[in-house]
Amino acid sequence: MNSFTYARAQDVQTALQEKTTALDGRFIAGGTNLTDLMKVNVEQPSHVIDIRRLPFNQITETEVVGLRLGALVTNAETAYNKQIEQRYPLLAKAILAGASAQLRNRATNGGNPLQRTRCYYFYDTATACNKREPGSGCSAIKGYNRIHAILGTSESCIAVHPSDMAVALTALDATVNVNGPNGERSIPFLDFHRLPGDTPHLDTNLGPDEIITSIDLPAQGFAEYNTYLKLRDRASYAFALVSVAAALELEGTIIKEVRIALGGVAHKPWRQPEVEANLVGKEVNAENLQNAAEALLTGAKGYGHNNFKIELAKRAIVRALLQAAKMEDSK
Ligand SMILES: Cc1cc2nc3c(=O)[nH]c(=O)nc-3n(C[C@H](O)[C@H](O)[C@H](O)COP(=O)(O)OP(=O)(O)OC[C@H]3O[C@@H](n4cnc5c(N)ncnc54)[C@H](O)[C@@H]3O)c2cc1C
Ligand code: SF4
Repeated sequence: MNSFTYARAQDVQTALQEKTTALDGRFIAGGTNLTDLMKVNVEQPSHVIDIRRLPFNQITETEVVGLRLGALVTNAETAYNKQIEQRYPLLAKAILAGASAQLRNRATNGGNPLQRTRCYYFYDTATACNKREPGSGCSAIKGYNRIHAILGTSESCIAVHPSDMAVALTALDATVNVNGPNGERSIPFLDFHRLPGDTPHLDTNLGPDEIITSIDLPAQGFAEYNTYLKLRDRASYAFALVSVAAALELEGTIIKEVRIALGGVAHKPWRQPEVEANLVGKEVNAENLQNAAEALLTGAKGYGHNNFKIELAKRAIVRALLQAAKMEDSK
């Protein structure tokens, strides 16, 4: 058993101070990922700082007429919030496609995008894993890699980022607001998660002592034409093999604006704004969507067991966009 100290922070400054002082401290919010990782010795913090009492527990209107999601609002409260349902249904759909009702009641908006990869080798301390232990090697590249990445991989790591919510937030151009030793700053969601490169132990661009305070949604919510298509091994309670957050702004059948973000294929939610720009002004039809799917998968590489994901992702993109445009049933 690993011993650690525990403190419940009553205000932000104390939480930040405790994190900076502790040699290897961790914030805990819902605890649904951190405690699992502590049980299997992947995370071994010396100090755990409970942040549930901090004042990040509301959904409020912002000056740019978007919404601010407090980092400690639960995933369930967010998905069933009336404003989210009406103005950002894509986000509600993505959250409800993830985990289980019990987990969503506990999991928080700050903790969800920070959950760590579900790579089996990362969880198994008897195997080599550069993400868990930098420099030890990657067991997945030549191992059983059915759930692994096909885009943006490196020789160090082929893990995928597992959050569904983060895929929708990337499509919606959300922004993460953080506080830390150097004050407050905002990080666009598109730049929040990292590709593995030769530092796969770093999942995000959040500083080691920074805390997420909230997530901002811009005014544009794509409320009418959107879908979250999640393809997985079981109908519920499973992570995505491939997922697509698709949102459109249409004039008749002509695309005025489009967002496509993919989950389950890379170390971060995968989005290529240039592919989206290329669809603007075009008709929603199978040929144009197929071309976009091919462009989004440019450079995709399978590692054996996961080769099937390349074709699966292309088909999922076309299908998701047709569903978002209401040209195919999403049932
Ligand atoms: C069986 C199971 C199935 C699941 N299925 C899915 C699924 O299909 N889709 C999906 O998206 N997710 C799924 N999940 C993951 C679940 O959604 C996450 O565990 C949850 O969202 C994490 O949120 P949390 O608040 O519990 O985070 P915690 O476990 O408390 O924290 C996670 C990490 O974030 C850090 N952290 C938390 N809050 C902050 C903050 N405000 N600032 C800085 N750091 C912070 C912690 O230090 C920790 O490193 C599943 C989980 C389980 C156990
Ligand atoms: S894919 Fe990444 S997380 Fe999985 S074993 Fe390799 S280095 Fe570790």
